[in-house]
Amino acid sequence: MEYSKTFKQKSFSCSLSESIDINLKQHLLREDGQEDLTFALWIPSEGKNRYTAIIKEVIIPENGDRNVHGNVSYNYEYLLRVCRIALKKGCGVALLHSHPISSGWQGMSEDDESTEMKTFVNAFSTTSLPFVGMTLGNDGYWSSRIWYYGKNETIAYKWSESVKVVGKNLKPFFNDRVLPAIKPNGQTIRTVNVWGEDNNDDITRLKIGIIGLGSVGSVVCEMLARMGISKFVLIDFDTVEEHNLDRLCGAFKTDIGKRKIDVIKRNIEKSSTSNDLKIEKIDKHIADEAAYRLSLDCDVLFSCVDKPWGRYILNHIAYAHLIPVIDGGISIEFDNNKNLNFADWTVHTATPGRPCLHCLNAYHSSDVELEKQGLLEDTSYIQGLPDNHHLKNRENISPFSFNLASMEVLHFMALLTNLVEPEYYGEQKYRFKHGFLSRNYEIKCADHCDFANNIGIGDSIFKLFI
Ligand SMILES: [Zn+2]
Ligand SMILES: [Zn+2]
Repeated sequence: MEYSKTFKQKSFSCSLSESIDINLKQHLLREDGQEDLTFALWIPSEGKNRYTAIIKEVIIPENGDRNVHGNVSYNYEYLLRVCRIALKKGCGVALLHSHPISSGWQGMSEDDESTEMKTFVNAFSTTSLPFVGMTLGNDGYWSSRIWYYGKNETIAYKWSESVKVVGKNLKPFFNDRVLPAIKPNGQTIRTVNVWGEDNNDDITRLKIGIIGLGSVGSVVCEMLARMGISKFVLIDFDTVEEHNLDRLCGAFKTDIGKRKIDVIKRNIEKSSTSNDLKIEKIDKHIADEAAYRLSLDCDVLFSCVDKPWGRYILNHIAYAHLIPVIDGGISIEFDNNKNLNFADWTVHTATPGRPCLHCLNAYHSSDVELEKQGLLEDTSYIQGLPDNHHLKNRENISPFSFNLASMEVLHFMALLTNLVEPEYYGEQKYRFKHGFLSRNYEIKCADHCDFANNIGIGDSIFKLFI
C-alpha cells in the first residue's frame, strides 16, 4: 500500500489553528469531568520527510451522536455522516477525545485502540485517506497517531512526533519517545536562564527553515546556531560574489564562487552550541517543488528572500500549511543627487491571527509576475525603471541587515515563548533617519484576502501556486 511506504519513510505530525484549538478545548474539557469526543476533518501537508495532518474543520456531535458515561462512545450514524462530509470535501477523518484525569502526552487504552481501529476501517473505506486519532490531556496537552494499511493489508498506526497549535503563538506538544528533548549544555547556560528550560525544550526540538542566505539570512543562522537550534533547513540557489562580502556573515574572500548553502552550513557548524546539530540544504528556488516540500518539514520559516515570488509562496505556506513565516525587508531611497532619503527596515510574522505579507504590502503581486517572466534579472529592464523605483534600490550596509536579522529573531522568540506581550509584536519598522522603532499592530487582512480565507488548506490547491 502507498501509505505503508509513506509512513516507513516519513515522520508524522499534526497541526491545528489557535481558533480550532479553543473550539475543541471548550467542547472536550468538560466541567463535569467526563470524557468527551468529537470528529473532525483533516487535510494532508506533505513535506519531504514529514507528513502533517492539518485539522481543518471540527464537526461537533449533536444530540444523540454520542454517549457520555465513563468511557465516551459515538453512535455509528455520526461516523457515517462525518465520512460523507469528508468524502465530499476531499478530507480525511479524525476522532478526538479527552482524558480528564491525566496530563501530558497520552497513550492509548485498549478501548481507545479498538475504537480507533474500527473507525479507521470505516473512514478509509469511504475517504481512501488514513485516519487520525487525537487525545487531549486535562492540561490541554495534545497527542496523536495516524492509522493506515501496512504491509499485507494489516492495520498499522504511527505515533506523531508532535502536535502544534499555530496562531499568534506557536505551541508545540512533543512526543518525547519519538522526538526527545535536547539537553542544554555548558555553552547555553545563559540562554536557558533567559527563557527557561521548558521553552528551551520546545525551541531546540523545532526544525527551522531559512529561505534566502544573503546578509539577513546569514545573520539569522548565526544567531539561531548560538541559541542552540539543532535542526536547520537551508534554501538558496545563489553563490557568493565579491560584493556580498561587506555583509555576509561567515563568508570570506576565499568563498567567492562557492554556493551560499555550503558556506552558511560551514558557519552554522562552527557557531553551533547544540549537542545534536542536523543541517539539510537545497540549492533551489522555493518555487521548485523539491525546495517547497523541504520547507513543509519545518516548524518555523524565516523569509530572507529579496524578491517577491519567494515571499508570495512563503505567504501561502504560512496560512495554508500553518507554518509561521517571519519576514523582513529593507527599503532605501536616494534623491536625485544620490543622497540618502531614508532607510527603513520592517519585520512581521505571517501566521493565522496576524495580517499576511500581501495585506502588509511586503510584496506587490505585479512584481511576482515580473519575476516569473525573468524581468527582475534583466538588467536592461531594471535600468529602464525610474531612479527611485523600489526594484532598483538594492544598496545595503551590514548594520541595517544585522539589525533586521536581530529583530526577526526577536519575533521568533515572541512567537515561541511567553516572555513578551504577543499583541505588540505586529509589524515593526525601524527608521534609521529618525532613529526610532515604529509599530503597527492594528493592520488586519482584507476581508477578501485569499491567504487569511484559506487557513489550513494544506496540499489541496498546491498546483495553483507553483
Ligand atoms: Zn482514551
Ligand atoms: Zn491578507
